[in-house]
Amino acid sequence: MCEIEVEVVHDVLKANEEIALRNNRLLNDFGIIAFNIMGAIGSGKTTLIELAIERLSEKYRIGVIAGDIVADIDADRFKRYDVPVIAMNTGKECHLDAHLIENSLDQLPLDDLDILFIENVGNLICPTDYLLGEFKRVVIVSVSEGDDIVIKHPMIFKTCDLAIVNKVDISEAVGADADKMVSDALRMNPSIKAIKTSKNIGESIDRWIEYIEESTDVHR
Ligand code: MG
Ligand code: ZN
Repeated sequence: MCEIEVEVVHDVLKANEEIALRNNRLLNDFGIIAFNIMGAIGSGKTTLIELAIERLSEKYRIGVIAGDIVADIDADRFKRYDVPVIAMNTGKECHLDAHLIENSLDQLPLDDLDILFIENVGNLICPTDYLLGEFKRVVIVSVSEGDDIVIKHPMIFKTCDLAIVNKVDISEAVGADADKMVSDALRMNPSIKAIKTSKNIGESIDRWIEYIEESTDVHR
């Protein structure tokens, strides 16, 4: 990149960060904890959020912002759970930004929420740079992406609080070593928490649910 380009990118991210801070304060005022859920297409973001809604909607009031190039598909899945959902279509943009979240927060019943899940657009690159106002950053990778997917994307693991290695029940079939993926994540970011999950292994989903509960209860 030439110098001018670098400067423009810097200004964009700086402006984004200011709005993110504002979003964070607003959420904090309403006692809402927001999770920014990142990961490639097909890594299992929507499914893991659905499982969390199923298990936790008795205990917490949950809302969802579904961000995608065509967001309505996932938004329709979430709407079946009778929770407030905002479909945030990003068009050509491959990430959500703080301004889009600010617009979504305007449309959500903030008084009636404890947890907000933000499903980011499916890729492991630029969502990393755009803070949204979240309290916890979660990255999901599937064993089907290959067990070198973690070391190929160091930045997102360095900036996340939780790494989920998903679909571990098919590790053998796809020739991936899920434990290597976990240890790669921990090596890149010693303070990250890393768990292995599969929607077909109930106890593994317990770890994901416990993480959400712990994060939410500390925050309240
Ligand atoms: Mg999805
Ligand atoms: Zn992008």
